Amino acid sequence: MNGNSVLRRRTLLAAAAGVAAAPFAAAGPAFAAGPKIYLDPGHGGTDAGAVANGLQEKTLTLNIALQTRDILKANYTVDVRMSRTTDITRSLAYRTDDANAWGAAIFVSIHINAGGGTGFESYRYPGVGATTQRLHSLVHSNVLSQMRTISSITDRGQKTANLHVLRESNMPAVLTENLFIDTVANANLLKRADFITATARGHARGIAAFLGL
Ligand SMILES: [Zn+2]
Repeated sequence: MNGNSVLRRRTLLAAAAGVAAAPFAAAGPAFAAGPKIYLDPGHGGTDAGAVANGLQEKTLTLNIALQTRDILKANYTVDVRMSRTTDITRSLAYRTDDANAWGAAIFVSIHINAGGGTGFESYRYPGVGATTQRLHSLVHSNVLSQMRTISSITDRGQKTANLHVLRESNMPAVLTENLFIDTVANANLLKRADFITATARGHARGIAAFLGL
């Protein structure tokens, strides 16, 4: 896809919309440029996700996602939407319905693991095609390499799972499990601001690589 032709088409659409809906013209730019990236911080509100070692999964996922958004917007021309930007409850159906209705190009769900283990792993839906496999591979490798600028991290691999957000999203989707909240050594990394930022940078770089930004 050619970025210039998209921009030109959007300009024409914006002009047409201005004619058709003049009273709303002052409401702001109707057509943001750049690929549509949907970020989904896992859990939130009444659903804390996994809790251990003084940490809550919902807080960590939101911090990583917000920083991923900020890094993407600071470095590239992109349109980023999030399933939540604060500590609020969102159903799984809301998350995929919202991304599908918005027409996201990709869907990236961010989680923290639990259950006794160590390291980083990520998921795609079973049986998906080469495009989603490529997104998965690029996000996985970039997150891992950025985490490893901070500490030695076990690579638990690129996996498949029948998860709602991967199954019900209409676009290439990946879900990351960023260390184990209930493993002390992992939790100690998750408590570090530089580790959270490195994790966000890894997500942003993987997304940018996939989109050719
Ligand atoms: Zn989770």
